[in-house]
Amino acid sequence: MKVLVAEKCGFCPGVRNAIHTAQKVLAQAHSPKPVYCLGPIIHNEDVVERLAGTGLRTVAAVDEIDAGTVLIRSHGVAPRALERLRSKGLQIVDATCVLVKRVQQVAQQLEEEGYEVVIIGEENHPEVQGVMGCVRNGVVVADEGDLHKLPSDGKLGIVCQTTQSPDHLGRMLGAIGQGGFRELKVINTLCKEAVKRQESAIALCQKVDVMFVLGGLHSANTRRLAELCKNHNRETFHLQNWEELDKNILIGKKIAGVTAGASTPNWVIDEFVKHLEAFDDKG
Ligand code: SF4
Repeated sequence: MKVLVAEKCGFCPGVRNAIHTAQKVLAQAHSPKPVYCLGPIIHNEDVVERLAGTGLRTVAAVDEIDAGTVLIRSHGVAPRALERLRSKGLQIVDATCVLVKRVQQVAQQLEEEGYEVVIIGEENHPEVQGVMGCVRNGVVVADEGDLHKLPSDGKLGIVCQTTQSPDHLGRMLGAIGQGGFRELKVINTLCKEAVKRQESAIALCQKVDVMFVLGGLHSANTRRLAELCKNHNRETFHLQNWEELDKNILIGKKIAGVTAGASTPNWVIDEFVKHLEAFDDKG
């Protein structure tokens, strides 16, 4: 089968930095042990397991850590969580992506300027929760159905989760704009790396018979890629690896496209492509 891979896909600089930082901390003899990561370092079980094999312990909450070093993953955390970690005397290694840090700083700044902070994104996503933790009052809106949560009038300061799509941001701003607010201040906090991945996935999925989006089912940016591709090619499938693929899907297809989320390692992409290329539905 002919296979085309999206021009931009796989690990983004923020994820690469977090993994590299974890490896460095684990290898340094002087880092206080054990080394913890607050939440899975990325939404990929293989990577989490590989790092666990070299000593990285993944925990869900600050309460589970009493000694050693704690790594903050690329999604970042709320300042209150950082304070609690500091008060426990832990060594903190902050691998928050610079672009996520920027959203946190922009949200704080908007609140200081007197705006009610609005975040366009997924309420339960760790990045959004970290940003929310930087402001006293903030509202998260995922889609048009959440607009009733906005204050009835006032000055809104709007940011968005880094991995949202420009289309969705535009739609939401259009809908908010109809709300009769006194003032709207919008700071575009979309991640260019995520947008580039979305653009190349959309371009590719229109040229192929079937499109595969590889990445963790909990990964927001992978889910967003799959959603966008599905809008342009109904034969789009979000999978974690080759084993998950129902091979019947490939029957009668000539060209397959492959893209992957920002937390999908190259070896997962390479293996998937290798199997696809070798696939022959005539047996
Ligand atoms: S997708 Fe963008 S914002 Fe998120 S970690 Fe990667 S580079 Fe940073």
